[in-house]
Amino acid sequence: MPIQRILQSWFINRELLYETDGGVVSRRLTAGVPQGSILGPTLWNIMYDSVLATALPDNAEAVAFADDLVLLVPGRTPAEASGLARRAVDAVNNWMVAHQLQIAPAKTEIVMVSNKKKDYKNIPVFVNGTRLTSSADIRYLGVRIHDRLSWRHVEFIANKATKVAYALVRLMKNHSGPKCAKRRLLASVVDSVLRYAAPVWHDAVETRTCRGPLIRAQKTCALRVAFAFRTVAYKTAVAIAGIVPICRLVREDARCYQRLQTEDATANREQIRNAERQATLSMWQEEWDRDAADETASRYRVWTHRVLPDLVSWQTREHGEVNFHLCQVLSGHGFFRDYLHCMQFTSSPDCKQCPGVPETAEHAVFVCPRFDAVRHQHLGAYGVMSVTPDNLQQHLLRGQGEWSSFAEVCRRITSTLQREWDAERALPDPAQWRPGFDEAAERHRNDPEIRNERRNIDRNDARAGADEERRRAQPPQRSPSPASIAQLRLAVSLGEMRVAHIRSFS
Ligand SMILES: [Zn+2]
Repeated sequence: MPIQRILQSWFINRELLYETDGGVVSRRLTAGVPQGSILGPTLWNIMYDSVLATALPDNAEAVAFADDLVLLVPGRTPAEASGLARRAVDAVNNWMVAHQLQIAPAKTEIVMVSNKKKDYKNIPVFVNGTRLTSSADIRYLGVRIHDRLSWRHVEFIANKATKVAYALVRLMKNHSGPKCAKRRLLASVVDSVLRYAAPVWHDAVETRTCRGPLIRAQKTCALRVAFAFRTVAYKTAVAIAGIVPICRLVREDARCYQRLQTEDATANREQIRNAERQATLSMWQEEWDRDAADETASRYRVWTHRVLPDLVSWQTREHGEVNFHLCQVLSGHGFFRDYLHCMQFTSSPDCKQCPGVPETAEHAVFVCPRFDAVRHQHLGAYGVMSVTPDNLQQHLLRGQGEWSSFAEVCRRITSTLQREWDAERALPDPAQWRPGFDEAAERHRNDPEIRNERRNIDRNDARAGADEERRRAQPPQRSPSPASIAQLRLAVSLGEMRVAHIRSFS
């Protein structure tokens, strides 16, 4: 058999050359598969496969991915678990010895999964004469499995994604840097860190404590993709940015995975993904409509919903880049006196030219006679009066020309307002722009979204500072190895069983 001979010749007369202080040293290799080769993993699997067929004691199970092997050992009492673990380890060890491999005790970890209050961590388990100490969690194929199955993994990936997000937002200033589409691409890096092995832990997003860190990590990027003020709420930021909310993505990944388990995976993979994406978008749309219709909804959320009622066509549009000026109009968070007043920067929300009328995004862009000339110049061709907040989305999505001309109106108006505000702030007497304490101001300050976001700014600043400090203090971490989702599910679906984790090396 020529193919057999080719393979044989591949394994004989192998030499490893490596640099030392005394020059290049050569060493003869007599075991293992060539590292980094395409055929290597397949050959390893052929050899290693039979470890899964090793006879294990009752109810014990072996799970393997590449050279990562996990033994799952159940037990009603510590003694029973310990006894079973010892027999299972011995069985695997015998297989290793027979195949001239060794278990490395230093690389072996053990975690006891139990919801009992009593500490069972000191069950004796030995590998090659070395006693193993149980840890609070193990990391298997990049997923952390905690001894209480509490999905501390989510906290871990959220921290990791936040660091990635901070690195990315440095490239995305509100006034400069890449355009929206490129930003969305950069932000997808954060999403993919967060979604790693999502079908395994997707249940976690049903709890508020797990949702929080995921949302915060995604919001960091979404604000910059949308060129938004940081006071813009998460749901508004992702809507303007056209980024699907992370919890919806996690649930979508889980649904796709479940369908792939039951349906013909190879034929339908893409159709399943497309169908589930459609489902995600329509659920997102429902939530968007529901939130805006809620009587407690912030007027800013209601405004954004009014100008962007259809998230699906917004998210799937083929032209149109959001920028710093357009986002101010879409979110209402911009250099409008009404917003500045909410943030306690000005004593009155009123338009300078129209006494008694709050200068909102709607007033400045669509109504105020001050900017009539700007509107006529850029929207004249479409009929100035025909573009309203209620048909703005349709207008923008009609074509690049419509989009660009409206974006130019936004740029000119918000730039003028920003210049005025900068000049006002530069006045020697800060009392000129300090908050007033009249009744109207009080009402504005009580806007739930603004109140909430103002509190968040301080909290986020503190958190960002602490995260940045932690990041600097830590050495860079290696990224996790590719996961096999099917095996992970097995590993975590064991509930109260005791888990011993054995990592071999050849
Ligand atoms: Zn006005």
